[in-house]
Amino acid sequence: MQFNSHTHIPVMEHFYTIQGEGYYTGHAAYFIRLAGCDVGCVWCDVKESWTVEEHQLMLIDDLIKEILKYPARLVVITGGEPLMYELSYLTKKIKENGFQINIETSGAYPISGMLDWICVSPKKFKQPLKEVLAKADELKCIIFNKTDFDFAEGNGKHVTENCRLYLQTEWSKRVQITPLLVDYVKNNPKWNISVQTHKYLDIP
Ligand code: SF4
Repeated sequence: MQFNSHTHIPVMEHFYTIQGEGYYTGHAAYFIRLAGCDVGCVWCDVKESWTVEEHQLMLIDDLIKEILKYPARLVVITGGEPLMYELSYLTKKIKENGFQINIETSGAYPISGMLDWICVSPKKFKQPLKEVLAKADELKCIIFNKTDFDFAEGNGKHVTENCRLYLQTEWSKRVQITPLLVDYVKNNPKWNISVQTHKYLDIP
């Protein structure tokens, strides 16, 4: 879909909540879930974010007004795959209003915009760019089956030593995978377990 990234951005949903997973767990944040993703994870839990509808195009200035209604000064841009879009104007406007901007990306597209914290969650289905992994502040690998530990280690070779390393079970496999995850992190303590606390606590 064609649109002017200096005025509009496709948004699936936007809401004020608590970051439930990863390094910023527990922080109040305004979430902007951009519409559109071509990564195609078989276990994706937001498949409704894959396509972009005309009505989802939102004026960036209107989005800023919504964000400013809440006290937290942390914005999380997620998706879909948010780096499918050129984010310079969106992030400039958010930064002008004094917000920290975190992004959650598969790393499959080049970085754009002014980002304070880059969480890369790499996917086998469309692998991350090395240049994005090199800028990751947080690497969050989803474990769906045993082979995903190797995939996580492979990606872990391309991040800096300051990057926080997380393993997180794919939600539908949490009962089977959690014991494996616990053993793995006990044996490989450079990794940490990320828990989707918002799902356990039913925080929307
Ligand atoms: Fe779903 Fe994220 Fe994978 Fe895209 S990258 S298919 S939104 S899990």
